Amino acid sequence: MMELLPCAACDKTSRGRLHGEPDPSYRSQYQRDRDRIIHSAAFRRLEYKTQVFVNHEGDLFRTRLTHSIEVAQIGRSIARALKLNEDLVEAIALAHDLGHTPFGHAGQDALNKCMSEFGGFEHNLQSLRVVDLLEERYAEFPGLNLTFETREGILKHCSHKNARDMGELGQRFLQKKQPSLEAQLANLADEIAYNNHDVDDGLRYGLIEITQLQQIDLFARQYEIVSRQYSNLDQRRCVHETIRRMINVMVVDLIETSQKNIADANVMKIDDVRDQKSALVAYSEAMRTSTLELKQFLRKHLYHHYRVRRMTVKSARIIEQLFRAFTEDHGLMPPQYQQKIDANGGPAQSGQVARVTADYIAGMTDRYAIGEHERLFSPSTPT
Ligand code: MG
Repeated sequence: MMELLPCAACDKTSRGRLHGEPDPSYRSQYQRDRDRIIHSAAFRRLEYKTQVFVNHEGDLFRTRLTHSIEVAQIGRSIARALKLNEDLVEAIALAHDLGHTPFGHAGQDALNKCMSEFGGFEHNLQSLRVVDLLEERYAEFPGLNLTFETREGILKHCSHKNARDMGELGQRFLQKKQPSLEAQLANLADEIAYNNHDVDDGLRYGLIEITQLQQIDLFARQYEIVSRQYSNLDQRRCVHETIRRMINVMVVDLIETSQKNIADANVMKIDDVRDQKSALVAYSEAMRTSTLELKQFLRKHLYHHYRVRRMTVKSARIIEQLFRAFTEDHGLMPPQYQQKIDANGGPAQSGQVARVTADYIAGMTDRYAIGEHERLFSPSTPT
């Protein structure tokens, strides 16, 4: 195996798992984490969860699953170049969206609103809840019992209020410390993936135009080079070639800037990384400005496009109505969810009913949520 940086995460310095287990024989601890994530039910559901476009809108759009695979790919390439732990980056990348609701951010916002009296709903915390608790697969422990480092990477952000209840994992938010370099990297690989694939999907769907994108520095520069060099290229290929080059310039900038940051900070072990004032895996100042410009463009022209908004409103309505129906009568939920409420004995506590309902709804795929909504609200649909 390739020599890693002394400050990279490795089995020897891992803070371990919540429930003690024998070491794996032929895998590293982070390979084991990644493998458990791939075998989880929540991972399979990502295939039918929206990134920006709802799953039934077309077969070519990114889903949470293909998005997560792209994040893992970008993350691994950068990890190898930086001599960081590829397996850990991959595990974090594949798990980072496990807690997402159906219908993307629209779903999360709607569920958060429904849960406002009961501690709210946040997809990051939910991803952690999935791997720590909700997956029921192993005889010896609840959840997937992942290493501290993978869990640290999944919990990208966290409010102070929630951090106080998170034990060891919440400490860094209260003490303003950094996560591992691998976690920092997975976070930016996520951003590189969605910024680029949303441009691709947005163009394919016809919600944004090349002429608009030409006002964005990152796109314009690569687009100009490609169209000058290949003047007869058809437009789809020209777009792909441009996006491929955009990903490349972002990745190269990130590698070179991070290499320099890591060398300058003189970090010798993973805890030195955690003690830094700011993240060492980062873009150059110029690239940060450019990615911000692209993000703002996507927010304005894609995520807030009226056709995306219509889907957003429809999705929010489905989530709100499901939530209300299940919390008013939790006997409408499948038995395994009712049992979680009734297991305590005594009358059902409204906070607990709400949390179990949120877990049930958050686990749904887009099409399952639409189906549940029809089964509950449409008299002609069988229940
Ligand atoms: Mg993501």
